[in-house]
Amino acid sequence: MTSLSEGTVPEAETVAFMKLALEQAKLAMDSLEVPVGCVIVEDQKVISSGRNRTTETRNATRHAEMEAIDALLEQWQKNGFTNKEVASKFSRCTLYVTCEPCIMCASALSIVGIKEVYYGCGNDKFGGCGSILSLHTSGGVSRKEFKCTGGIMAIDAINLLRSFYEQGNPNGGPEASQNTSGTGLNSFFSSVLVLLSK
Ligand SMILES: [Zn+2]
Repeated sequence: MTSLSEGTVPEAETVAFMKLALEQAKLAMDSLEVPVGCVIVEDQKVISSGRNRTTETRNATRHAEMEAIDALLEQWQKNGFTNKEVASKFSRCTLYVTCEPCIMCASALSIVGIKEVYYGCGNDKFGGCGSILSLHTSGGVSRKEFKCTGGIMAIDAINLLRSFYEQGNPNGGPEASQNTSGTGLNSFFSSVLVLLSK
């Protein structure tokens, strides 16, 4: 992972796209979801966006990145694109996401062959782009490496997560957590937040 060193100013364009990802995270928060959001950009244009929807879908794998990737796959399949064309499209796409992709999402991103990833705060517990595993630098037969830069507007991403948990997560309290399928993710982000606030 490349992290912006303190005092390094990211490109205006990077900040602009990360702001859109943060907007998605805020939408997630408005829907009482853990606030993580993303956008996928091709040729300077946002072509997909996603926000965490684990509670709404009762599916702990519906992370922002998976939502954005699946929307594109669906669209491109409708367009009749071949696998090769889909791969070629992803190889021109950049993802901006408010929190470091987890191991699952980092794997998915390397399988689809995304060109580049920018993220906000790190994910010290489940991060797949340098924190726990470095899936972005370990390509294989079915996976490609991708460039990854963290620390873009990290404070904003952390503040959203913090206010989500401070206001009391209706889905992730100790009692509720036994009964909701969003639980794994909620406790996952709680742990991330604890680590971040240290
Ligand atoms: Zn994920």
